[in-house]
Amino acid sequence: MSRGLLLVISGPSGAGKGTVCEAYKKHCQNHVWNSVSMTTREPRAGEVHGESYFFVSKEEFLKRIEEDAFLEYAEVYGNYYGTPRREVEEKLAEGFDVILEIDIQGALNVQDNTSEGIFIFILPPSMNELKKRIIGRGSETPESLLTRFKSAYNEINYVSKYNYAITNHTVEQAYSDLMCIVRAERCRVTRVTNEILTLKEEEL
Ligand code: 5GP
Repeated sequence: MSRGLLLVISGPSGAGKGTVCEAYKKHCQNHVWNSVSMTTREPRAGEVHGESYFFVSKEEFLKRIEEDAFLEYAEVYGNYYGTPRREVEEKLAEGFDVILEIDIQGALNVQDNTSEGIFIFILPPSMNELKKRIIGRGSETPESLLTRFKSAYNEINYVSKYNYAITNHTVEQAYSDLMCIVRAERCRVTRVTNEILTLKEEEL
């Protein structure tokens, strides 16, 4: 079993990365593992501990930082978020593709901390559409809406740090683009070295 792919997916709030990742996980559940992050943010309505996030206190989170338990972590909108290192390592070694749906600081940390990772940025079709999507969620206060709009404008500048950009016109198209990226990555010569060696061992 070859090592899984580490898919690091970011994009501004409202670009739809969650929906695209959900669609991808649903269709590829046999070989995809979704990393569940730890956060100090309060749960939103409908969020389930251990599924959406592991919701912990700030003390607990800081203890995990001390223990070097995170592959990466970042402070986003005043709360801490972190990716558990051990589970990600284990699942990659077992051959599962691992999805990290994380913010840009976190993605840049992964770039610094590991030599692997396929970095994918989800773009909204337009800033107006992005605004509509954030407002449509109905989960933000007027102040936090403004913070998220401003961050979205700044965040788009970071797209050049990523390997791929997907514009999310529709979930179906964005999900299909993601599938194409994964298929291409699986065909990289560096990933099929075992198959090549096996061919070379065959007698003519
Ligand atoms: P939300 O509070 O809307 O669930 O997430 C806020 C931001 O934090 C989103 O951009 C989300 O992708 C990001 N995020 C979620 N989990 C992690 C994580 O483990 N690490 C980092 N760096 N960002 C995360």
